[in-house]
Amino acid sequence: MAWPADDRLKEECGVLGIYTPGQDAAPVAFFGLFALQHRGQESAGIAVSDYNKVRMHKDMGLVNQVFSPETLANMPGEMAVGHTRYSTTGASVLRNAQPIYCQSLVGDIAVAHNGNLINAKELREEMEAEGEHFDSTSDSELLARILVHNLPEGVEKAVSEVMRRCRGAYSVTVLTPKLVLGFRDPWGIRPLSAGRRGDGYMVASESCAFEPVGGHADRELLPGECVVIDRDGMRFFMGTDQPKHAMCLFEFIYFARPDSRMYGTSLYAARERMGEHLAKEHPVDADIVVPVPDSGIPAALGYSKASGIPYREGMTKSRYIHRTFIQPDQSMREMGVRMKLTPLVDHIRDQRVILVDDSIVRGTTTKQIVKLMFEAGAKEVHVRITAPPIRHPCFYGIDMASRGELAAAVMTIPELCDYVGATSLGYLSIDGAVEAVGKDKDHHCLACFNGDYPIPVSRAQEKHAFDEPPDVGQFAGVSASGQLRLIED
Ligand code: SF4
Repeated sequence: MAWPADDRLKEECGVLGIYTPGQDAAPVAFFGLFALQHRGQESAGIAVSDYNKVRMHKDMGLVNQVFSPETLANMPGEMAVGHTRYSTTGASVLRNAQPIYCQSLVGDIAVAHNGNLINAKELREEMEAEGEHFDSTSDSELLARILVHNLPEGVEKAVSEVMRRCRGAYSVTVLTPKLVLGFRDPWGIRPLSAGRRGDGYMVASESCAFEPVGGHADRELLPGECVVIDRDGMRFFMGTDQPKHAMCLFEFIYFARPDSRMYGTSLYAARERMGEHLAKEHPVDADIVVPVPDSGIPAALGYSKASGIPYREGMTKSRYIHRTFIQPDQSMREMGVRMKLTPLVDHIRDQRVILVDDSIVRGTTTKQIVKLMFEAGAKEVHVRITAPPIRHPCFYGIDMASRGELAAAVMTIPELCDYVGATSLGYLSIDGAVEAVGKDKDHHCLACFNGDYPIPVSRAQEKHAFDEPPDVGQFAGVSASGQLRLIED
């Protein structure tokens, strides 16, 4: 279970694939996965191939809890794929850990998937009608089974068949006994980069996974593109002739590591620019600009630079609180924030603070941080957020609250400002966030901000998202009537 105090959005997975000629791939994959730990902390897994047999180890926990030196030493082979996962699915989480292992006519294969298929239900019914049997309820297994059936006809056929049948977000790495594949869905919603390491090759969710293992990311895969890595080298092909561009804007705002590059820009620099835009869109007279660590730091620096108001650290973050197995209740949630973030009272006392953070989901974390700032003696707390208001659920692989739980979907901005207890509240606009990345709006998925889903979701899915009962107690006292309603754009 993730630390209960944190109501931040959770990325669902990180994936990688690697070929390390003359060396076992498992230890390298281990360190690569370590660099992708922020993309999933529930479970981790690595599959390796020695060109004959695919072996796998996966378990619940962080990468360094799942793998010991002994485990890695028992995983021979120059090719590997790996996966880190975040999941919310209580008891069945181990069964859903990845990579997924399947038998096929070309030998056993292992599949690691980041994303979510929106047509999983229909696809599963279709495939069951074709005689397919499934071991799990995971949408990743659908994708794996399509590959298994089509790999005997070649990787091009297998990948194009996945792209023809699977709708949704998927960045995938695949290990067969003889090769590593990596591919992105035709909308390019989740990231995936390919590059080199010595005489070998790598593919990973983010470029930050390359440098720690001595590699270098050459480029991002295009939407709908596939990379094939084997003993003959690395080659690319398109799995669809209808690629689009709809990369998740939230990767740029929050999910991906700031030292990664996407759409050719450093994410640290993009976040700094978001802070600069935020200062222009929501200026305020104050004494210091304070980040919510760590993700708010680049944007706070940008805000400070554009406004001329000094940057000051206002709280320290414990590096050691990641996980607990204790069931959270409200008092524990509050204690969680206090254990995770400690105010630097001498910096905050008697100051008018601009507090910069990346996003507000349910609003509970922001509310507690604002409270901490006032308790530390702040005179004013002006909250500035680099993500535009989140008013719609994500169907493409981000664990987001249902629409009724999204604070900005059920409250106006002034109501939300009251709810979190801030002196003022300002969000970066969609235009401001997109401009900071440097590509136009057509290159992004913006669905959780504007409800415009690049891959249309079925009415049933939307209805479910809208029907989810809001947690009324959570917002109690917000509106005079006690009534919740959805805020339309
Ligand atoms: S809906 Fe939001 S979180 Fe989901 S892919 Fe689109 S931009 Fe990203």
